[in-house]
Amino acid sequence: MLGPGGLGATALPEQDFAGRLALVREAMGPAGCDALLVSSLANVRYLTGFSGSAGQVLVSEGDAVLVTDGRYATSAAAEVAGSGVRVEARPAASQPELLAQLVAGTERLALESDHVTWAQVRSWSEGWAKDATLVPSSGLVERLRERKAPGELSRLAAAAAVADEALARVLPLLGDGPSEVEVAVAIEAEMRRLGAEAPAFPTIVASGPGGAEPHHRAGSRKILPGDMVTIDFGARVDGYCSDTTRTVVAGDGAGGVARLPAELRRLYAVVLAAQDAGLSAVAAGVPAAQVDRACREVVEAAGMGELFVHGTGHGVGLLVHEAPALSSTSTDVLATGQVVTVEPGVYLPGVGGARTEDTVLVCEAGCELLTLAPKAPVPLAAGGAPASRGQGAG
Ligand code: ZN
Ligand code: ZN
Repeated sequence: MLGPGGLGATALPEQDFAGRLALVREAMGPAGCDALLVSSLANVRYLTGFSGSAGQVLVSEGDAVLVTDGRYATSAAAEVAGSGVRVEARPAASQPELLAQLVAGTERLALESDHVTWAQVRSWSEGWAKDATLVPSSGLVERLRERKAPGELSRLAAAAAVADEALARVLPLLGDGPSEVEVAVAIEAEMRRLGAEAPAFPTIVASGPGGAEPHHRAGSRKILPGDMVTIDFGARVDGYCSDTTRTVVAGDGAGGVARLPAELRRLYAVVLAAQDAGLSAVAAGVPAAQVDRACREVVEAAGMGELFVHGTGHGVGLLVHEAPALSSTSTDVLATGQVVTVEPGVYLPGVGGARTEDTVLVCEAGCELLTLAPKAPVPLAAGGAPASRGQGAG
């Protein structure tokens, strides 16, 4: 799916923005409003294709207007072409006057209560929106974003493929004694070369004892041969993210895991087994908390339950963390078309840690891996030969 030179935007199918706007309009009536101001940039991108850093969309029954500023006048018009959205690019100072005209006649204007500030609500209710009743809304667009359309799945798969290839290109460097930052920079540069518009988030490279911190910040520590290294990284392709974690042994290829100290080898094997259990539990109709339980049972059975200090996973899309949540307290139920991570980890303070994470598509009877980077083989009990697993590279 991906040539060596990268991923041309022409390879990605068109997205049905007009269809999404129609679904939002259907949701507005039950939400008790006749217009909705979409403020979340991820929601704006989902509805229009606009990728800029400042813009809001006012959706009403007969109109949809992207209000942005002059920096995006040209790019916004190109990006939203075909979506049924008009662009109004104005300096920030004159946007209130425009918004007042656009909401004239609106009785109940819904705001995204998760994305506007108290200060904005106060200012707007006394200013351009003073003739409308402002009503809070939550999740109107986010709910639509949970189950991915084919055009979104193409982008998510492309992001995962970019990330897989970037890791494959960078892993050999681990034997050269690089710093954590050098590894992170190399992965991010490869993802850009391969067609990512950006990393999906700052790459985590946690080596040696740093591996005991789930969100360790890549630092100046030199990675030594034989160090266990956790790399958590993702690519963003045309707005859509991937999220992968691999724990590898520096400079030692696939055989390295077998030569780790017994404590770390066991910890790593438990993480892989927990992830297998979690991946096996994913299917449409399954409570998300059940996937978390499946992972946690494996870790608890190994006596490491208290060392698995985070939830099992999350949805991935335009944001790297979005609904549904795969945690012990989640009330979400998995559905076809959702894209989620399964990422158990075990962290031994002062010693090290391991996490394995894949981004998967929820299917009717299971799941399909989008991230395909190889995992190091599972070491058997001490003294046994390493069992082959997957493609088996370090
Ligand atoms: Zn991650
Ligand atoms: Zn994640």
